[in-house]
Amino acid sequence: MPEGDTIFRAARTLHRALAGKPVTSFESAFPALARIHDDAPLTGRTIDCVSAAGKHLLKSFSGGLVLRTHMRMNGRWHIYRPGERWQRSRVEMRIVLSTADFQAVGFNITVAEFFKERELQRHEELRQLGPDLLSGDFDAGEALRRMRARGDTAVADALLNQRVMAGIGNVYKSEVLFICRINPFALVEALDEPQLESLIASARRILLANVTEGLAAMTTYTGFRRTTRSDDPKNRLWVYGRARLPCRRCATPIAVRKQGKDARLTYWCPKCQA
Ligand SMILES: [Zn+2]
Repeated sequence: MPEGDTIFRAARTLHRALAGKPVTSFESAFPALARIHDDAPLTGRTIDCVSAAGKHLLKSFSGGLVLRTHMRMNGRWHIYRPGERWQRSRVEMRIVLSTADFQAVGFNITVAEFFKERELQRHEELRQLGPDLLSGDFDAGEALRRMRARGDTAVADALLNQRVMAGIGNVYKSEVLFICRINPFALVEALDEPQLESLIASARRILLANVTEGLAAMTTYTGFRRTTRSDDPKNRLWVYGRARLPCRRCATPIAVRKQGKDARLTYWCPKCQA
């Protein structure tokens, strides 16, 4: 599952490549999207803005139309120059949005819909998102309140809950808990206020750090991929993906266990996060 920073960077890259440009063609494997394109063609509309809302990617077009996509586990957006060879098979293609200069291709996107800009405020899933950790007006107090409202939830699951805070995925979940030395299975109600505040602050700090690194203007797939992969994550992370390897602080073997209703892997140090 992509983390919020991945979506944020994807949105920024897509925005740089596409914003302000008219759509020259649109194609989708989703019948509902193709149907709307037939009724109210995208071709000729200008792409006003590409933005991230939690893990949702929003593309706004002139005329007040918004395309929302969610990548779930395997979805990806790639950017190509016209005629450039795709890095994934055509059968994985779900959406192709072209301008004169670029082709944005959504592969294995599982959720996609058009809606009217004026319906944005009422959009059920977007409305329920918690404070966005990457937003300029992130409301830490509201995030804290929403954490507290889930007192009987294991803290790792609360961090993943996009209705509490939007942006944390499974990697940063484990990382943030390690950094704050909090056991992933502790119930939220067992944590005091400074602990919850430190989790929220660390989550925001890590996500921001991963989107503010100097990224050159990205034009082709190669550049785009650099934003979504981490340089050898095994060396860059504290605990995630490091089962049985020695803790970087205390050398205790890192533990791993499935957690929560979706059985997501949680990594932690049994000593640092007792
Ligand atoms: Zn340790």
